[in-house]
Amino acid sequence: MADLQVPVLIVGGGGCGLSASLFLSNLGVDHLLVERHTDTSHLPKAHYLNQRTMEVFRQHGLAEAIYAVGTPPENFGKVRWRTSLGGDGPLDARTFHTMDSFGAGELYERYAHDGPSPSSNYPQLRLEPLIRQHAEQRGPGRVRFNHELVELEQDADGVTATVRDRASEAPFTVRAQYVIAADGGKTIGEMLGVEMHGPTGLLDMVSTHFTADLSAWADDSCLISWFVNPDGAGSWGSGALVPMGPTWGAASEEWVVHFTFGPDDPARFDEHAIVPRLRELFKLPELDITVHKVSHWILEGVLADRYQVGRVFLAGDSAHRHPPTTGLGLNTAIQDAHNLAWKLAAVVSGAAGPTLLDSYESERQAIGMRNVDWAMFTFLNHMLIDAGIGLMPGQSAEANRATFEAFFADTPMGATRRARADEVIRTQRTEFQAHDLEIGFRYERGALVPDGTEPPPSDPMGGVYHPTTRPGHRLPHAWLEQDGTRLSTHDLTELSRFVLLTGPDGEAWAAAAAIAEEKFGVPVRVVCVGDGFTDPEGTWARVREVSDAGAILVRPDNHVAFRAPAAVDNATDVLVDAFSTVLGH
Ligand SMILES: Cc1cc2nc3c(=O)[nH]c(=O)nc-3n(C[C@H](O)[C@H](O)[C@H](O)COP(=O)(O)OP(=O)(O)OC[C@H]3O[C@@H](n4cnc5c(N)ncnc54)[C@H](O)[C@@H]3O)c2cc1C
Repeated sequence: MADLQVPVLIVGGGGCGLSASLFLSNLGVDHLLVERHTDTSHLPKAHYLNQRTMEVFRQHGLAEAIYAVGTPPENFGKVRWRTSLGGDGPLDARTFHTMDSFGAGELYERYAHDGPSPSSNYPQLRLEPLIRQHAEQRGPGRVRFNHELVELEQDADGVTATVRDRASEAPFTVRAQYVIAADGGKTIGEMLGVEMHGPTGLLDMVSTHFTADLSAWADDSCLISWFVNPDGAGSWGSGALVPMGPTWGAASEEWVVHFTFGPDDPARFDEHAIVPRLRELFKLPELDITVHKVSHWILEGVLADRYQVGRVFLAGDSAHRHPPTTGLGLNTAIQDAHNLAWKLAAVVSGAAGPTLLDSYESERQAIGMRNVDWAMFTFLNHMLIDAGIGLMPGQSAEANRATFEAFFADTPMGATRRARADEVIRTQRTEFQAHDLEIGFRYERGALVPDGTEPPPSDPMGGVYHPTTRPGHRLPHAWLEQDGTRLSTHDLTELSRFVLLTGPDGEAWAAAAAIAEEKFGVPVRVVCVGDGFTDPEGTWARVREVSDAGAILVRPDNHVAFRAPAAVDNATDVLVDAFSTVLGH
């Protein structure tokens, strides 16, 4: 007999595991989270929270807490490529290019049109304590730091884990129906023989977290400054500067600079060289710098060959690890947890069959693969930017300086060089304006009923989003009104509730939904736009792609499960069949 029995055990208290705990608590699923460290991570790591992640947090009651402390949009809407912050030489403090970024700045309105929750920015070392606080409040006693999973065995009925309380050294056993391996790939994958495929050991990313007053030189609207200078090895080799708050904009007290080194370069461990290197990079020789932490991160682009091994589900960095470009690490981790949480809730409550859980791998592994590829691609594209500016690998500092002088020269050829660089650097919108990649992704196979239609055209650069109600896609956002209250189509599902959206001629679907709800024991809300709900801006009418007599079944995670473009003869049979397929009965 195990010391503790819970439906779900979460291993790992990083962004993925803590989010999973919060989501499960909100869904009423008892669980235990074990994290081997005494505290959340002190490493700067990720910071950008894309629109889809903020929608997920909106659904789970955390978005407002993040907006209250996160970076205001006016402080994260630009990224800039520049030579240095200070200095008074002819090549100092010069800008190559400035780009709108992250759904803020000039992009804000376009992104706001497509979703109810704007993107945000809040460094992981501040975000994790916030998620932890909410997870602990909603699951008292269920989040245990300083506890390490040391063994895991599974049989047909469940999983038995041995956990060590690191304070007392006392081991205890936990019996769970299911395990979420949110351990960053440190423990469980290897125990279960999961293989990570893809290139690894590419570069050593060295992140230096420090305090300095850069307010006289930094830029209020700029989130990332990429330094490209004649002496450096290109933008990644020279360094990228990001404010860490807690005050935002140029007044940020804390900062992080990421450099990359070859994994065999001994200089990467030379912490004494860091402060002089930062001063040289910024061209601020007198700058007062207090270093908090220098951390190392091996760059790789790897994907787990399995996301599910029996009753264990890999999520976050345990399933996919990739470069930080496009900010897909933490965002994908949180969205993995979101995909899994409602399914676990439905299976644990008995509303769904266990095969619903198989859809986690078929849905999320494809997204993981795409995100690994995209992060690798946008990472390597920075080399193109260096070349577009004129920085060639192996070129001497003198030759680089001559190239830079020609670049900034007030001559026709200087203008040509600058125009070329603009065109080349704009290709990095694949990283900083990846709106479609962030919210336009879709599941082709999984807990859904395909309707045989083709997906809308996909922008190869990942920017232009086409809303669609095709099964597997994220439900398009539209503002509706009910009794004078404005709410998003995304607000209709509440945690574990399915939504059936119909029009004024959809009575047969409403009756069918009541029968399905009774039969499967899942909550279904019928929303008739045109009766009770209005579409004041006409947005829903433009994106729904079904008639007034059609219907769209939306899963609790706001992905479309099924749609009927028009009335059918036997709405009840059709809808019951759809639920059966989706719920794995
Ligand atoms: C130095 C660094 C910089 C990064 N920078 C960026 C960035 O700029 N942008 C970006 O998008 N991404 C970045 N990432 C990646 C991003 O931080 C990760 O994608 C994200 O943290 C994944 O979250 P996770 O919860 O899946 O894994 P993790 O954050 O790794 O959390 C896993 C947790 O599991 C715990 N654990 C492991 N084994 C056990 C066990 N046996 N028992 C109990 N607990 C265990 C670990 O202690 C850890 O706390 C960076 C990562 C690092 C390391």
